[in-house]
Amino acid sequence: MPDNAFYERQRAILEEIQAQGLTKPERVLLSRQGAHVRLRDEDGREVEAINLCANNYLGLAGDQRIVSAAIAATSAGGAGFASVRFICGTHELHKELESAISSYLGYEDAILFAAAFDANGAVFEPLLDDQDAIISDSLNHASIIDGVRLSKARRYRFANNDMDDLEGQLKAARTEGARTILIVTDGVFSMDGYLANLSAITDLAARYDALTMVDDCHATGVVGPTGRGVGALQGVADQVDIVTGTFGKALGGAMGGFICARRDVIALLRQKARPYLFSNALAPSICGASLAAIEIAKGPEGDDLRRQIVRNAAHFRGALTEAGFKLNPGQHPIIPVLLGDARLAQSMARELLDLRVFVTGFSFPVVPKDQARIRTQVSAAHTPADLDFAVEAFVKAREICGAAAG
Ligand SMILES: *Cc1c(COP(=O)(O)O)cnc(C)c1O
Repeated sequence: MPDNAFYERQRAILEEIQAQGLTKPERVLLSRQGAHVRLRDEDGREVEAINLCANNYLGLAGDQRIVSAAIAATSAGGAGFASVRFICGTHELHKELESAISSYLGYEDAILFAAAFDANGAVFEPLLDDQDAIISDSLNHASIIDGVRLSKARRYRFANNDMDDLEGQLKAARTEGARTILIVTDGVFSMDGYLANLSAITDLAARYDALTMVDDCHATGVVGPTGRGVGALQGVADQVDIVTGTFGKALGGAMGGFICARRDVIALLRQKARPYLFSNALAPSICGASLAAIEIAKGPEGDDLRRQIVRNAAHFRGALTEAGFKLNPGQHPIIPVLLGDARLAQSMARELLDLRVFVTGFSFPVVPKDQARIRTQVSAAHTPADLDFAVEAFVKAREICGAAAG
């Protein structure tokens, strides 16, 4: 007998999400990812639009050099290895990618995962137990929150970027007898575009004899000298013990995650991290694409692309502010347009797509209730004309929605 009550409960929950304007529609792309994309709107029409919601900061996701590298790696290694790494799934390409990402970011070694979500799910449980403590920023990514839950370590939380609170939590963890303390933070807070204060965090870590871990998913390839991330930007990269990151954003946009750390830490994770031991090895296409993306990101072309991102972000922030929109201050290419109401964020996003600007409204539970927003993200691949076009569309969409935005 089907459990009708179960299915009715699911439908009621879905209807509740819908009634609150919190349904997240998925638009279907018909082209490669890029500054301009072709997609199908909600009415099934094909639309060409400027894309302002990808993590494609360096514009490499659809770049033919990256695609060709993925194809070449597929030709060499096949579609995949039909094995986890330790059985018969480790290929030369994995060793090359681990070596490339660890030397790019300045670490002894690296370990690959199917996603950064898995890297964050994997990192805590093998390294820390109930004698240890993890102190986590309150706005850390969902994957960090889940990863911390999977470990037996004692949990402490500090208010987002609040260094006084962090110090309070460090004192508490020390007083309560923690053996090892690990402070963990996102490098860039992805809903706001704010950077972690890693110079203060590493300072506090040194004073309280704690380790630090940074999830630099929105920074690797994008932020700091040669794109080595928030720690490098703030001159403290050598004091960050563990970095996690993704190949699914600036570094080619395919998928895949990594952890960089000292050699022994990585060696232990290879023995004990469950998402590594019990999940398939990365496909050759992903390794090939990511290797080619790192090569571009770390070189002079990467520097040019990062300069373009900085110019584009400043231009777009300036023009949106001038037009009366409320933004978070900052420099990062994540530029949230703050709207408050979830339905307004959804309807503005729909109007914007009609005006050929592809953006996504973010609402609860991705951001706090009543803090709905349209999060825009600029890329090196946008032109100033693209961004001016988008600002005009934002102004028109605001008029159409009758919003008191800004
Ligand atoms: C995107 C993101 C992740 C997840 O990365 P995937 O490789 O897509 O799983 C984890 N942490 C942060 C901070 C992110 O922005």
